[in-house]
Amino acid sequence: MRDAETVTFGGSGLDRAAWLRGNPEELAMRRRDGSACVLPIWRGKPLFAGHSAAWVAPGHSVLETAAETPVFLGLDEGQARFAADISAWEPETGDTPPAGVFFDPTEQRHPALPDDHRFAELRGVMADLTPRDAELVATAKAILGWHRSHRFCSACGQPSAVADGGWQRRCAACGTFHFPRTDPVVIMLITHGNKTLLGRSPGWPEGMYSCLAGFVEPGEPLEAAVRREVAEETGIRVGPVRYLASQPWPYPSSLMIGCAGEAVTEEITIDPHEIEDAIWVSREDVALALSGEHPTIRRPRNGAIAGFLLANWVADRLD
Ligand SMILES: [Zn+2]
Repeated sequence: MRDAETVTFGGSGLDRAAWLRGNPEELAMRRRDGSACVLPIWRGKPLFAGHSAAWVAPGHSVLETAAETPVFLGLDEGQARFAADISAWEPETGDTPPAGVFFDPTEQRHPALPDDHRFAELRGVMADLTPRDAELVATAKAILGWHRSHRFCSACGQPSAVADGGWQRRCAACGTFHFPRTDPVVIMLITHGNKTLLGRSPGWPEGMYSCLAGFVEPGEPLEAAVRREVAEETGIRVGPVRYLASQPWPYPSSLMIGCAGEAVTEEITIDPHEIEDAIWVSREDVALALSGEHPTIRRPRNGAIAGFLLANWVADRLD
């Protein structure tokens, strides 16, 4: 697909400078000499100023509660970029993030930062970021999330430590190296003639429908994952499948792999354990939903690959 990499988080050609990761002295020097900058992330919420990521100097007091050595993200125009997890910070004021909601609308402000700086859900800002900011923030959120949830060695249970500029954890007790996880998810634009198959999960906002999606299982090619997920959730059988575009999706660590699939059956039988509803929607109705004018189907969220695939399908730009 020609426009594949224009999706949000589609990559900006960031120089990840992997050769620097194994040189902790050089990384520490770049933080000390003031030439680097750091993105603080609090409990999965990056720091933003307006519609941009907000970077701070490595010695900034907001980083006092950083859990571990900052992760080295790469070189942006030669400037070293890091990300630090400051989840240990306890805000004294502001709203408490609600538990278990689809979208956390609360924002937190830190007393050591200017008033326009706030920790916020990436979902609410992602579509406005520059491609470079989007790549840096998505990378930072995903890898810091991995560190937070992988503090102990999965081989022996002992605490592990950050290594390789943040791109590994190592266990001193048993010597195992651990690498950041990326979980592949297929998300599929299933079509049958002029219609596409959309579904919704329990708990989604009213009127929200999206392309079906599911995790790829061990030992399974993408094409088989597409056919299995669609069959499990809706009973629809799918014939030819092809790759369209991919999107890193740091919620917490997925890679969304957008595929097109042609349905060979039409009758929907949903599995209520998997989804709440599934419907065939015409190209004209998808166009209305994309413009926010459909009476019952809500406009897809800006920045997510489902809306990107649907918009390209409506515009006949899947080639
Ligand atoms: Zn171990």
